[in-house]
Amino acid sequence: MPEKELLNEEMLRREETALVRIVDQISILKDGSKIGWTDKLAFSNEGKMKMREAAVKLLLMSVGEDIDREGLIDTPNRVARMYEEIFGGYCQDPEELLKVTFDSDDGEGDKYGSLVLVKDIPLYSHCEHHMVPFFGKAHVAYIPEEKVVGISKIARLIDCYAKRFQIQERLTTQIANTLEKFLNPKGVAVVVEAEHMCMTMRGVRKPGAKTVTSALKGVFLKEVDARAEFYSLIGLK
Ligand SMILES: [Zn+2]
Repeated sequence: MPEKELLNEEMLRREETALVRIVDQISILKDGSKIGWTDKLAFSNEGKMKMREAAVKLLLMSVGEDIDREGLIDTPNRVARMYEEIFGGYCQDPEELLKVTFDSDDGEGDKYGSLVLVKDIPLYSHCEHHMVPFFGKAHVAYIPEEKVVGISKIARLIDCYAKRFQIQERLTTQIANTLEKFLNPKGVAVVVEAEHMCMTMRGVRKPGAKTVTSALKGVFLKEVDARAEFYSLIGLK
């Protein structure tokens, strides 16, 4: 066998010895039964932080960084804490957010039955395929039947789904479905316009390209006029 191939083989063997435990540990964390856990372990906050810190160190090492150099010493912990915020959606229950609704009645028997639109809501999420941000804005409209919800709750609902690993299509649908489920309105329309870092900083490299997704329900789906009003109000014709 040529010397070079021998070297490669030896290198691969050493690598495997070094990494085998890590790979093993990951599968143990995923499936606790290997070490006698009977249920899927829910990690404490401290456990989750440790897991993230270890993962960040591995990523840094994998690209050739020295994890002990000064600038990087606190990075794993900083990233771990940041994840708590930017992926906080996993700990939020959309049902809780929309629990408090108001009657759209004005007290004299007149119900508010026209369009409610919250537009240009800033949105930050992460693409689940590349783990890099996509960001832009969301426009959410509904036509109440009986119930209306606090405007801020709509913004928080968007955050609840955006602060997860996502694809834009699913994010859009989840927002619309949840509003439909809990408000039972005459119609719901959601449009998300976003720029994906995985398209601008790598791959096809098309900065400025926006992806637009929409989810229409009820009257917005059935009636051209309702749809046209919504699109014109958000500046999409
Ligand atoms: Zn992506």
